[in-house]
Amino acid sequence: MAKQADATPTNPRGLRDLPFQLPQVTDAEKRRARRLAAALAEHYPDAVCELDFTSPHELLIATILSAQTTDAAVNRVTPALFEAFPTPRAFADASPEAIEPYIKSIGLFRNKAKAVHAAMTTLVEEFDAEVPQNMADLLSLRGVARKTASVVLGNSFNINDGFVVDTHIHRLARRFGLIDPEANVQQTERRLMALFPRKDWCELSHRLIWHGRRACQARGKACASHPICQSFGVACDRRDINHD
Ligand code: SF4
Repeated sequence: MAKQADATPTNPRGLRDLPFQLPQVTDAEKRRARRLAAALAEHYPDAVCELDFTSPHELLIATILSAQTTDAAVNRVTPALFEAFPTPRAFADASPEAIEPYIKSIGLFRNKAKAVHAAMTTLVEEFDAEVPQNMADLLSLRGVARKTASVVLGNSFNINDGFVVDTHIHRLARRFGLIDPEANVQQTERRLMALFPRKDWCELSHRLIWHGRRACQARGKACASHPICQSFGVACDRRDINHD
């Protein structure tokens, strides 16, 4: 019978401060998920965030810029961007049009320039030019949804308040059978939060993303059938691979 999601604190903050209920998962599902996490940890011990940043506000901006763009493309534009606008106030005092030339090589640059400018303006006006360290305040910033907020909280502050669900993690969660094949991003995030210990959410997201980038093709290419996937009974044929 399905059991209530883990009510036992897995780190000092437990799960009780979350603003929503996590779905029920069985002990067997948790054990399988945690074996997978251990295999990924062994295979990708050095997995880290691949965006370059030196401060929380830089990571926030880099993550906003990374939507529908590769981290490598973001890393090519941020050195000049952060040199031109070294603080949140420098961004706020500029205009979106002044930011655009620095990011025009990445997709959606006009909207992203507006989002970065608006987010930094709110930081200055409402948060003393500091990146807030909680999900609710981060979500109040333009261009910031749960994925971006979780990246910033996990990597800048070591706070696990959400599970990053990008295209790689969503695809792998489906292929590993961790979620319902039809699960949307919100359902996927909550199920991953229920399956894995809270203290591991950020690190595990990096390991899944590394597996997704380095081993797992989204579509159109034959799969090398990675040993981790083999050991968890995951065998994607070309039809699966074309199904993202
Ligand atoms: S078997 Fe290949 S395509 Fe399937 S999840 Fe693993 S790496 Fe991805």
